Amino acid sequence: MSGDIRELYQQMIMDHNKNPRNFHAMTDADRMVEGYNPLCGDHFKVYLKLEGDVIKDISFDGSGCAISKSSASMMTAVLKGKTRAEARGLFEEVHKMLSREIGEPFDAAKVGKLATLGGVCEFPSRVKCASLAWHTMLEGLEPSGKQVTTE
Ligand code: ZN
Repeated sequence: MSGDIRELYQQMIMDHNKNPRNFHAMTDADRMVEGYNPLCGDHFKVYLKLEGDVIKDISFDGSGCAISKSSASMMTAVLKGKTRAEARGLFEEVHKMLSREIGEPFDAAKVGKLATLGGVCEFPSRVKCASLAWHTMLEGLEPSGKQVTTE
């Protein structure tokens, strides 16, 4: 990753951390799931409103580090209006991107703006921060009844 792009990515993460999108509780949500990352102290709730197969609305609240918060913010911005299948597909691409070996390329076209988070894999301790919101969202879409924690 070149220095310019890295800087641009850092700016995007800072921006989402400072001005998180869809950062509010949803009183009429169909699903509400809590997720914890005890390693860092990140703790968020993800709210989903579903209409048939479509994510009609999605929001989150809670607190956490810049990476976890900006990842959750970007996720909500991207998933609004997506189908369950599209959301699951994106989850898998993001998961692949975050858990790849350092230096290994990933398909940025498949994740769009979320590629911003791709540099996080260089910091293994932050990968759980970046993936927390995604695991929480997936439990909302496909409930397993398990508590969402990165441990
Ligand atoms: Zn964190």
